[in-house]
Amino acid sequence: MAQNMGNQPVLVLSEDTERTSGRDAQSMNIAGGKAVAESVRTTLGPKGMDKMLVGSIGDIVITNDGVTILNKMDVEHPAAKMIVEVAESQEEEAGDGTTTAVVIAGELLKRAEDLLEQDVHPTVIASGYRRAAEKARETLEENADDVGTDDTEKLSKIAQTAMTGKGAEEAKESLSELVVRAVQAVAEDGEVDLENIKVETVVGGAVEDSELIEGMIIDKDRVHANMPKRVDDARIALIDTPIEIQETEADTEVSVSSPDELQSFLDQEEEMLREMVDDIKESGANVVFCQKGIDDMAQHFLAQEGILAVRRAKKSDIKKLARATGGRVVSNISDITEDDLGRAGTVEERVVSGDEMIFVEDCENPKSVSMILRGGTEHVVDEVERAIDDALGVVRVTVQDGKILPGGGAPETEVALTLRDFADGVEGREQLAVEAFADALEIIPRTLAENAGLDSIDSLVSLRSKHDGGDKNAGLDATTGDILDMTEGGVVEPLRVKTQAVSSATDAAVMILRIDDVIAGGDMGGDDEEMPDMGGAGGPGGGMGGMGGMGGAM
Ligand code: ADP
Ligand code: MG
Repeated sequence: MAQNMGNQPVLVLSEDTERTSGRDAQSMNIAGGKAVAESVRTTLGPKGMDKMLVGSIGDIVITNDGVTILNKMDVEHPAAKMIVEVAESQEEEAGDGTTTAVVIAGELLKRAEDLLEQDVHPTVIASGYRRAAEKARETLEENADDVGTDDTEKLSKIAQTAMTGKGAEEAKESLSELVVRAVQAVAEDGEVDLENIKVETVVGGAVEDSELIEGMIIDKDRVHANMPKRVDDARIALIDTPIEIQETEADTEVSVSSPDELQSFLDQEEEMLREMVDDIKESGANVVFCQKGIDDMAQHFLAQEGILAVRRAKKSDIKKLARATGGRVVSNISDITEDDLGRAGTVEERVVSGDEMIFVEDCENPKSVSMILRGGTEHVVDEVERAIDDALGVVRVTVQDGKILPGGGAPETEVALTLRDFADGVEGREQLAVEAFADALEIIPRTLAENAGLDSIDSLVSLRSKHDGGDKNAGLDATTGDILDMTEGGVVEPLRVKTQAVSSATDAAVMILRIDDVIAGGDMGGDDEEMPDMGGAGGPGGGMGGMGGMGGAM
């Protein structure tokens, strides 16, 4: 690309670089960000629609979950990718509210564009947005209510709000109960490690048949039909090596010259397997979870000893079992002792929807629970799992922070009102940005109304007037279109979902606004797996394709 310096063109960038600068760059980025936000807007809220995503190999996902939609979409545009990251950070930090965060980010960009057209400088907009965001978070915090870990009813409402409008909608009452019980079971001093909650999905049966097990479920069956189906007072060996004869060198050949020699060789192998099983037996174990294979002969010996054994258990399951049962994972079978064994009240193989599963219940450490999610088809089960994921996330966050807010657009309307007052005290053009921020937040109640088939202007006008009159909890009942006290109506969300949405949306919008130069196609260095061939014409680094590395670097 040539740039004129005086009369002499100076080449600073290679030929196949594309460069967009100034207002063009801003417009291009804003358009990209807005497009992504627009694509998920119709899914927001209880009346939001679902999306069917068809992958390149024809795989289908039907979902209402913002972050899932955005992750599955193959977004190429660099600014659009930054909006996708908003959803990801929202999911990570707050466990829910991904659509909300993305829709707010899109609206902040749209309002910023209007201001740019009025010649407000991007840095002024950026700093106005930042001030507004801080005030918004403050207001949200002031309006939040306290909730305790043992407040099952409120926590259950939190879970239900997160599941509203998802595939799990009809069963949300029973599912929310499972979610709250699970989180309460693993909560320890206000900390909740979701690793301790294992979610297994089973296709078959109704969503309502989903259940919570105080313990672990392993999606495996026992290796031998002669093993007991149920072991009480279980002492559990967790082994991460094969219960097989290890062929240490791949091409060792055993040459035998007579049937006797063969027999003695086989006897020797049998003897070694016998010893392994004896070692296990002598430790006192009556259940074995092996991460690797178990030889047929060893299976037979284990069955003879009345030991229930499972092979090829997942590594992650072995780890969880160790935590749940208080056992230690053993790599060398001859070293196994009683101290290594985990404990559980019962270990039992049961059939769930025609599938055998091993239930490990009444564990040493009860801070480990499992959920069996069921549903008629795979798509249903998958969407139930995503809904449960959101519900677990919000209940966890609520237990950690102990703060909740009403939903249904109430907090956004309240903050917008506060920000408009606050704007009066802001000097210069920044005031316009603060006002724009207030307007942008109202995209949430507006969209909730639109998606419910209501008149968004009427809804917004009534919402504003309620809040003007001091009714901080007034939100939109998406079913009836009435403006109600959302806390009384049981539509509540964790404070963190709202504060995080404000933060990540603002960060992304500000970052995009501050860009006035997009240089595409250069070798960004470092991030690409394969360095483009520097000499070759039309190498892989050319065009927008080269931006892939850039998205990852930001
Ligand atoms: P997100 O990905 O942002 O969580 P959702 O589709 O889950 O998107 O919608 C969340 C929005 O829906 C929140 O503003 C929440 O308060 C609102 N909402 C949830 N349930 C109800 C309800 N019963 N009535 C009104 N609004 C609701
Ligand atoms: Mg949600």
